[in-house]
Amino acid sequence: MKITHVDTALLRVPLQQRTITDSQSTVTHVEFLQVVLKTDAGLTGYGMNWSYTPGLRTAQIAVQENYAPILIGKDPAFRKQITKECFFSNHFIGRVGSTRVALAAVEYAMWDLACKQANLPLWRYLGACRDKVKAYSTDGGWLTWSQDDLIRDAMNLVSRGFDAVKIKLGRPDPREDLRRIAAVRKAVGDHIDIMTDVNCAWTLAQGKQYGGRLKDYDVKWLEEPMKPEDVTMHAELAHAIETPIAVGETIFTREAFRDYIAAGAVHYVQADSTKLLGIDEWLEVAALAASYNLPVVPHTNVQHKLHVQLAAATPNCVLVENCYESLNEMWVEPIYVKDGFYNLPQEPGVGLRIRDAVIAEHRIG
Ligand code: MG
Repeated sequence: MKITHVDTALLRVPLQQRTITDSQSTVTHVEFLQVVLKTDAGLTGYGMNWSYTPGLRTAQIAVQENYAPILIGKDPAFRKQITKECFFSNHFIGRVGSTRVALAAVEYAMWDLACKQANLPLWRYLGACRDKVKAYSTDGGWLTWSQDDLIRDAMNLVSRGFDAVKIKLGRPDPREDLRRIAAVRKAVGDHIDIMTDVNCAWTLAQGKQYGGRLKDYDVKWLEEPMKPEDVTMHAELAHAIETPIAVGETIFTREAFRDYIAAGAVHYVQADSTKLLGIDEWLEVAALAASYNLPVVPHTNVQHKLHVQLAAATPNCVLVENCYESLNEMWVEPIYVKDGFYNLPQEPGVGLRIRDAVIAEHRIG
């Protein structure tokens, strides 16, 4: 099988839900890059990447200008070799960031072809360890919501069968964060997991002072308390407070995860395949975490169809985030959370094909 065509589509899709806010961003739209690999065998591979901040056009250009000339004529069975060649085609300016995001979309399309050739969904192709995947919800708990809205939303999620919800932190006064967590804990009771997420807004001193008090509310984890580049600060915080630390959604390399894990700076490894170099590197990070007996809980906003399949095939990947539910219907064969668990897709492939009607309506490039 040889790759004959590389097509891309860039979309800007509005969220059909209340405006989302955290300590760094206000989200009203999500950008998507669909990568399509056509082959002389009649099979078509679909990959995707995404961003809730604008600028994914740079990734599209990387696919068109750097990767497509390498891909044409290649056998996608040589995925690892091709990915390496693509990586070094622009590594002097793009070892991380949008070029890496672009290459992950290409890598998924090559995996999609391998799974379709085997006529299996990704999780069966990899070898499964579970037939459904537990979910937790981030589709609420946003930073600018009132305390009453936080409680109403958390109770609604619990009534739908979720037993774990995430609340954003990073208000200008961290004491207000603590009051909000206390109110949600009181409302949901002690049998529901509450996660917290600062989106990198705190200093180490704030992490120790205010993160140190989250144990009073039995918080499951403190996520991205500080900027992700500084492993040493996270290690110091992880050793100073009782609440476990979760990081990963803005970590781009297995070596950065290795440094976090070896330093004891992370307890929940939130490896996101769409930031790493696709599925192969995600599997390497998951295996690394397993060797330290650490759970992997992949970060997911729109890429849940991919991550539930990886979770179904990875024993230490015990939980997958659920977010941006209003975008579920944009995928061919959507999947859903019911009674706190994701069902698994059954179609052959990795499941990242966006419906044609969505592309037609929201295409910007
Ligand atoms: Mg987060």
